[in-house]
Amino acid sequence: MEAAGGICIIAVGDELLEGRTVDTNSRRLQRALGGHGLAARLVQAVPDRLEDIGQALQRTRPGDLVVLTGGLGSTPDDVTRQGVAAWAGVALVDEPRALELVRARFRNLGREPRPEVLRQGQVPEGMVPVPNPVGSAPGLVGRLRQRWLVLLPGFPAEVEGLLPGVVDELRGRGALPPVSGTLVRRCAQVTELDVVRRCRPLAESHPELVWSWWVTDWGVDVRVRGQDGQDIPAPVPAELDLALGEVVFSRDERDLPQVVQDLMLAQGVTCGTAESCTAGLLGGALTAHGGSSGFFRGGILAYADQVKNRLLGVPADILAAAGAVSEPVVRAMAEGCRQRLDCSLAVAVSGISGPGGGTPDKPVGTTWMAVAAEGAGGARVWSHVYRFPADRRRNRLLTVAAALDSLRRLLEWGPERGPWDVSCAWEVQP
Ligand code: AMP
Ligand code: MG
Repeated sequence: MEAAGGICIIAVGDELLEGRTVDTNSRRLQRALGGHGLAARLVQAVPDRLEDIGQALQRTRPGDLVVLTGGLGSTPDDVTRQGVAAWAGVALVDEPRALELVRARFRNLGREPRPEVLRQGQVPEGMVPVPNPVGSAPGLVGRLRQRWLVLLPGFPAEVEGLLPGVVDELRGRGALPPVSGTLVRRCAQVTELDVVRRCRPLAESHPELVWSWWVTDWGVDVRVRGQDGQDIPAPVPAELDLALGEVVFSRDERDLPQVVQDLMLAQGVTCGTAESCTAGLLGGALTAHGGSSGFFRGGILAYADQVKNRLLGVPADILAAAGAVSEPVVRAMAEGCRQRLDCSLAVAVSGISGPGGGTPDKPVGTTWMAVAAEGAGGARVWSHVYRFPADRRRNRLLTVAAALDSLRRLLEWGPERGPWDVSCAWEVQP
C-alpha cells in the first residue's frame, strides 16, 4: 500500500478535546476507507487553532491521503481552511463553483446567504468543491504538498452525505487504489468467539487472505479480503456461508434493521412492538431507515404491569402468578399487541436488564421474547428466553438485536420453523 501512502484523519474541534462531542467522524471515515482496503495510519483530534491544525498536518507524509473534518463553518472559530492554506503555503481564494454551490443551497431554501456564509466558497488554492447534499459547506478535495487532502464539515450527517461524492472524486483522480474484493458476512445472535471458531478452519486453509472479526450493535461482522488487491478465490464465499450457517443476516453492508425492513416490505407484512425492558429502543431500531412506515404500525411501551394489563390485555392474574418477566406474559403481550395494533406480526420483550431486579431463578439478563403472527388457522405465537451476560446498556442492545434477528429468522424461515428452532447465543442452560 506504499504507493497510495497511508490514511491520516484529523478531527478538528474544541468540543472534541473537551469531551463534549465524541469523535464519531473519524470512525465513520475509517470504515468508509476500510471498505477500500485502506487502514488509517494516524488519527488525531485537535482544537480549532491554526497552529494545532498545522502541527497535525506536519505529522502526515508525502503520499498520504489526509482527511480533515470540522471547522468549515462560517463562524470565526472555524479555521480549518485557513490552517490548511497556511500549512500548504497557498492562498485562500474565492472558488466560483464552491460559491455557486453555497448560493444554490440558499436559493433552494428561499433565503439570502449572509456575507459570512459566503466564506464557505473560499478554498485553499488548488482544491475543488464536492457538493454537500445535507448542509451548506461544500467538501473540498485537492492535492497539496504531495498529499491528497479532503476537507469535510463537522456535522456527522454532512460527513455521511458527502462521502459518496468524495470517494468518487478521489477514485476519479486515482487517489484510491482499486477496490480489492471484500467478502462481508454480518451475523447476529452469536458471540465473537463462536464466529471466529466457525471461521478458523477456512481461515487456516487460506493464509493468503486477510480476516477480521468484530462486534457490532447487531452481532458480529466478518470481513475477508485478498492481500494487495488480490481476488478472493471463487469457492471461499460458499465455504464461508457453510461454516457460519444460519447466523448470517446480511451478505452486504446492510444493517439488521434494514434487512428486517426489506423482508417486511418484500413480504407485505406489518409489524408492531410491545416493549417492556427496552422501552422503545426496539421501535426506534425498526424505524431507523426511511421507508419504515411501509411496514411498521407502532408500539406499546408497557413498562409497568398495569400498562401491560390495560393497554395490552395481559390478564392481571397471569402477571401476578408468573411475574412480568415470564413466558405467559410475553406471549400475551405479543398477541395483545398484534390484535390492538392490527398488524400481521408483533414482537414482545420483557427482561431484567440490571443492575438491580435479579433473583436467583431470574438473574439479571433474563429476557423473555415472543412473536405473534396471524395465520390462516388463527394466530401463532413463538417464545424464547435469553440470558444476556452484560450490563444494563448492553443487555438492552442485545435484546433489540435478538428481537430484530428473530423477526428476520421468522420471515426467512417461515412459520413451520419459527424463529427459535436452532440454539442461539445466550441460551439459558437448563
Ligand atoms: P463544525 O462544523 O466543526 O462546527 O462542527 C459542527 C458540529 O458537528 C459540532 O458542533 C459537533 O457537534 C459536530 N462534530 C464536529 N466534529 C465532529 C466529529 N469529529 N465527530 C462527531 N461530531 C462532530
Ligand atoms: Mg467546530
